Amino acid sequence: MELRKIVGLFCLIGILSVNGCGKSMDIERQQENAGMSLKKHMEAQKEIFAMDTYMVVTAYGENAQSAAEAAIDEIQRLDALLSIGSEESEVWNINKNGGDVLSEDTAYLLERATELCKETDGAFDITIYPIMEAWGFTTQDYQVPAEETLKTCLSLTDSTQLIFDEVTKELSFGIEGMKLDFGGIAKGYTSSRIIDIWKEHGITSGMVNLGGNVQTLGYKMDGSEWKIGIQSPEDESTYIGVLKIHDKAVITSGGYERYFEQDGAMYHHIIDPETGYPAESGLVSVTIVSSDGTLADALSTALFVMGKDRALEFWKLHSDEFDAILMTKENELYITEGIKENFTSDMSLEVVNK
Ligand code: AMP
Ligand code: MG
Repeated sequence: MELRKIVGLFCLIGILSVNGCGKSMDIERQQENAGMSLKKHMEAQKEIFAMDTYMVVTAYGENAQSAAEAAIDEIQRLDALLSIGSEESEVWNINKNGGDVLSEDTAYLLERATELCKETDGAFDITIYPIMEAWGFTTQDYQVPAEETLKTCLSLTDSTQLIFDEVTKELSFGIEGMKLDFGGIAKGYTSSRIIDIWKEHGITSGMVNLGGNVQTLGYKMDGSEWKIGIQSPEDESTYIGVLKIHDKAVITSGGYERYFEQDGAMYHHIIDPETGYPAESGLVSVTIVSSDGTLADALSTALFVMGKDRALEFWKLHSDEFDAILMTKENELYITEGIKENFTSDMSLEVVNK
């Protein structure tokens, strides 16, 4: 994601949900709000650049400071495991060696991702990395790959060829040259982990914003719901609507987040594993709302690939697990019934019922 866009997105969420858009890194503060007890109103906020994006965590309450610090530690720990670009990461080593005995986190993510690959009929596939490389998304040396190259990469994109022993946690690749990419799920897992850690710290109110992907814990300190702006795909400084939620992850995928242009065509980073090309599903933005951040992240990517009709069919089968906001390239907005009371927008929208 371009820096400009990251800052824009960060500010947008900031305006609506945290206390402004600080640009300095690693700020620490503790505040006492007027008219309320000191103990109840401790706030600790920290920022960090990790996983290719700006992140801000805000915890409230007695243990806010240590909770915010623990959140930053967790981000750094998971970044070091899952970052594909870093030569020391676990994923980098797995890809280089064609497998490994996985750490607990990576094993968990691999299991969730392969299960979601099955459930989404292959729309979400963590073996997408060779295709990401072919398009230059991994190096920013962008190009439209030759058909032959894509054909080879497509043969390597197949999660059913991951050989994983659930007991020993040993992973190997069924086809030589396969590579993993947790980019479509890592941030959601990270926010979920932070929320779990905060609960262990006794935190009951907090918000994690990982480059516009948000997960909230409890309610705001005044007892009201968090207000999360959903960014417009066309204009990073405006939003398509505002969602009022508590205890939920709100995770958005859109082609606008990372793309390049060649010969007048735009190529974005969400790949259809069927074709090897950026998904042209008719959707420009997909937001998933769920109490499970890991699920929300994987599904935001998967439903973008599926397109509106398939995505809504999928939602009907799993409506107890998540809700969704879909925007088409014709600027139509669809919102599933579970969040219809929580979402306000100036745009006309269609509520989808089961
Ligand atoms: P997100 O922003 O969550 O939609 O994730 C996009 C990232 O997920 C891309 O930058 C790739 O690293 C990865 N990715 C792209 N296409 C897919 C796919 N079909 N399944 C799983 N991961 C994908
Ligand atoms: Mg995702």
